[in-house]
Amino acid sequence: MSAMTSVPVPINEPVKSYAPGSPERAELTSAIASFLDAGPVELTGNYAGVRRPGRGTARYDVTMASDHQQVLGHVQAANDADMHEAVAGAVAAGAAWADVPFREKAAIFLRAADLLAGPYRARINAATMLGQGKTPQQAEIDSACELIDFLRFNVAYAERIFADQPLSVAGVWNQMDYRPLGGFVYAVTPFNFTAIAGNLPTSAALMGNPVVWKPSLTQQLASHVFMEVLEKAGLPADVITMVPGHGAALSDVVLASPDLAGIHFTGSTRVFQGLWSHVGANIASYKSYPRLVGETGGKDFVLAHPSADPDAVVTALVRGAFEYSGQKCSAASRAYLPKSLWLKIRDQLIEETNGLKVGDVRDFSNFTSAVIDERAFDRLAGAIEQARGSGAAILAGGTYDKSQGWFVRPTLVQSDDPTNDIFVTEYFGPLLGIFVYDDADFDAVLKLIDSASPYALTGAVLATDRAAIQQASQALRQTAGNFYINDKPTGAVVGQQPFGGGRASGTNDKAGSMWNLIRWTSPRVIKETFVSPTSTGYPHML
Ligand code: NAD
Repeated sequence: MSAMTSVPVPINEPVKSYAPGSPERAELTSAIASFLDAGPVELTGNYAGVRRPGRGTARYDVTMASDHQQVLGHVQAANDADMHEAVAGAVAAGAAWADVPFREKAAIFLRAADLLAGPYRARINAATMLGQGKTPQQAEIDSACELIDFLRFNVAYAERIFADQPLSVAGVWNQMDYRPLGGFVYAVTPFNFTAIAGNLPTSAALMGNPVVWKPSLTQQLASHVFMEVLEKAGLPADVITMVPGHGAALSDVVLASPDLAGIHFTGSTRVFQGLWSHVGANIASYKSYPRLVGETGGKDFVLAHPSADPDAVVTALVRGAFEYSGQKCSAASRAYLPKSLWLKIRDQLIEETNGLKVGDVRDFSNFTSAVIDERAFDRLAGAIEQARGSGAAILAGGTYDKSQGWFVRPTLVQSDDPTNDIFVTEYFGPLLGIFVYDDADFDAVLKLIDSASPYALTGAVLATDRAAIQQASQALRQTAGNFYINDKPTGAVVGQQPFGGGRASGTNDKAGSMWNLIRWTSPRVIKETFVSPTSTGYPHML
């Protein structure tokens, strides 16, 4: 085709309500029933375009968090031979994929977005609800809207990058060729967002790189559905090779490959640091310097100023800390509240927290559900007991029960010790630490928030006093990569709040922006001289 085409201008996918009587509620209910009626699925990998189980010996059950006897699927993990096959397949696929014109690549991912927005919406939301323990609202904003947005906006951002060209002068044409990295990208994704699981492999693939993708075991049901969507959208075999299994066991083969060109990771700080060290130790063996992009942990704060609107603070805390049971990297887990405001909101906050309905995801009246798995349950139960033992006050919640599902009640922990673990450690669950400060100590509390934890992902300030907002924004400039004023610190929207944090929270390459995509290209500059010089001397030599 001979044309300077433009990709469609993206707009954010509208969020459906799932209110009683709505058509989307009926579709979602029936998609949930079809998963459960069909019984456990074999959650295969995708090697050389062929879906098959891994050949490893480990076999995992994917179960419902809120009903752990309900098995949704089985994963036969990959082994080293599978990983070698995945890497070889990806490397082999690289040249052909790099040569596919951008508009053809874009059409595949735009088609995937439309499949998710239409025929696959209920199915991927149902998989995310059942597999990851999300309510209809939390699934909708993740596996439908955010993933659709990533796919559509990334196409537009890639076009913007390609349009960025150097200056050309008389007699010379300069061009920037945005090449893929050469080699393959290893995408390692977390359990908590189907959108992130889908974005990490597809963003690198959109920029022309073949990808080996290792999803989280507990997110495998929705990943399986997304792979189906990509196949339906026409993604060639091997461009994204999905390999299921446990990351620690599978990564050695990938990290030893000389063709490793990048890692696109989201998950815990510890695992990303491990991957980085491994790459560092192998650095001389790679054909290029692998790009390392990782968005990791957080200890996200809410700071209220004495001038804050009390109702707004309560809502920001309850929604920010307890939606999806605090299992968002952006979830509020430490709150700094002035004494005067605390006296006004204490009872309301406790009452609202105690009133949150927590239960099975199939009951749409619940506010949230169980935490992801037994490991998370044990970690959170341990943290509650540790807080109790530390002399902190449990103001609400503080109970847990794993008889049916991995249930941990939304919990408020108040401590006067700003170094208490509740303000420092990422527990990744429905635990909110509360530190009450003297109204006059606003300056000191800003320093405390900045230094209390190693992370710098999200944070929020609530105030009506403009000077206080400005002061907090300045003092906490390095304390959060996504900073919210008079809002909760969660719920970033693609195209509106590009996401990522600094310090121990990640490389801050801002998923959902052109800054992330830029990491997946290695530009070549081409200078063409129309009439070449033909003499060697310069005038000063005369
Ligand atoms: P995790 O680190 O346990 O797992 C993430 C992925 O890494 C999984 O696919 C897992 O199998 C793999 N993995 C685990 N050990 C590995 C190893 N040794 N080598 C290679 N891969 C390995 O994280 P999780 O529990 O899935 O997700 C929760 C964490 O993710 C939290 O810390 C949260 O803050 C973080 N997170 C951050 C963001 C962000 O944007 N900053 C977004 C979502 C989640």
